[in-house]
Amino acid sequence: MKAMVIHKISKFADDSAPLRQVELPVPEPGPGEIVIKVAACAVCHTELDEIEGRTPPPRLPVVPGHQVVGRVEKMGPSAKRFQAGDRVGVGWIFSSCGTCEFCVSGNENLCPEFRATGRDANGGYAEYMLVHEDYAAPVPSAFSDVEAAPLLCAGAVGYRALRLANLQDGQNLGLSGFGGSNHLVLQTARFLYPRSRIFVFARSPGEQEFALSLGAAWAGDFTRRSPRRLHAIIDTTPVWQPVVEGLRSLAPGGRLVINAIRKEEVDKDSLLKIDYAEHLWMEKEIKSVANVTRRDIAEFLDLAARIPIRPEVQVYPLEQANQALAELKDRKIRGAKVLRI
Ligand SMILES: [Zn+2]
Ligand SMILES: [Zn+2]
Repeated sequence: MKAMVIHKISKFADDSAPLRQVELPVPEPGPGEIVIKVAACAVCHTELDEIEGRTPPPRLPVVPGHQVVGRVEKMGPSAKRFQAGDRVGVGWIFSSCGTCEFCVSGNENLCPEFRATGRDANGGYAEYMLVHEDYAAPVPSAFSDVEAAPLLCAGAVGYRALRLANLQDGQNLGLSGFGGSNHLVLQTARFLYPRSRIFVFARSPGEQEFALSLGAAWAGDFTRRSPRRLHAIIDTTPVWQPVVEGLRSLAPGGRLVINAIRKEEVDKDSLLKIDYAEHLWMEKEIKSVANVTRRDIAEFLDLAARIPIRPEVQVYPLEQANQALAELKDRKIRGAKVLRI
C-alpha cells in the first residue's frame, strides 16, 4: 500500500518535504482488531510537532495522521463490533491501558500508557490502517468522508477544550487562533450556548472575516483587547504571545484553556511580559487540554451531526501531504486541511 511516512526528525526550515512516500505491506488484523481502507485523513498541527521533535514518535519510520475516516476492510479473530464496509473514524487515542486510575475514572486521555494514532502507532496518511475495534467510532452519515475527518481531532479535542472551559450560557467566550479547530468550536459553542457571545482573536484579516461570517460577535488581532471581558478563552495557537495577551481580556475567575500538545519556543520570551496584577490576579486560571477520550469523540460526532456542523475543508491528494503541512506551517489556513486517499 501507498503511505507517507516520517523517517527522521527535522526542522521544516531545513527540509520542507519531510514526509517520504513509501510502499508498505497492508496490515493484517490480530484478535479484536480491524483494518480500515482509508478514505480521508485530516492534517493536524501535531504532525508538525512530531516532525520537528516537540513530541517525537518513539520509533521511525511512522505513518502520521490521527483524523482518519474509512471503511472496515477486514476484521481479525473475535472482532465483532463492526461489519465489513461500515464507515468508521479514528482519532488521536489509539489505545490506553484500561486499568489505571485515570482509565477507570473516565480520564483515559491521561493514562500513562496512552498511545497516540500516527505517533506511537501507524496512522492515516496511508491507504490502510490497523486499529483495535474498541478505538474506532461510527461516523454519522450527515458528513462526507473529507468533512468528517477534521471532526476527529480538530473537532473532538476542540469539544473537550470547550467542556473544560466551563462556560455557562450567556457568558462571553474568546477563541484565540481561528484554524481547523476553533472554526468548529465556534459552531459548537453557538449551539450549546445560544446566549453567549463569541470573540475571536486571529492574525489575518481573512481569518477574522471567516470568524464573523460564522457568527462571531467581534474579531481582531491578538494584540487587541476584546470589547467585553471574557469568561473563558480557548487558545489553539502554537505560540505564547496570544496566551499572554488573552489573559488581559479574561474576566475575574475566568479560565484560559490551551488546546495544544506543545508550544513552539520562538516567542517564549513573551512570558516574561506577564504582569501578575494585570494578567493573573483575580483568580484567573490557565488549563491545558491533553489528548482526547473515546467519549469526547463519540459525543462530539453525535453533536456535530445534530447541529449540524459545516466543516470548511481544503482537500489535497495523499501525495501532496508535504505541501499541506508546509502551508499549515506558514499558517495559510482556512478551515481544515484534508488528504483524500
Ligand atoms: Zn490533532
Ligand atoms: Zn490507563
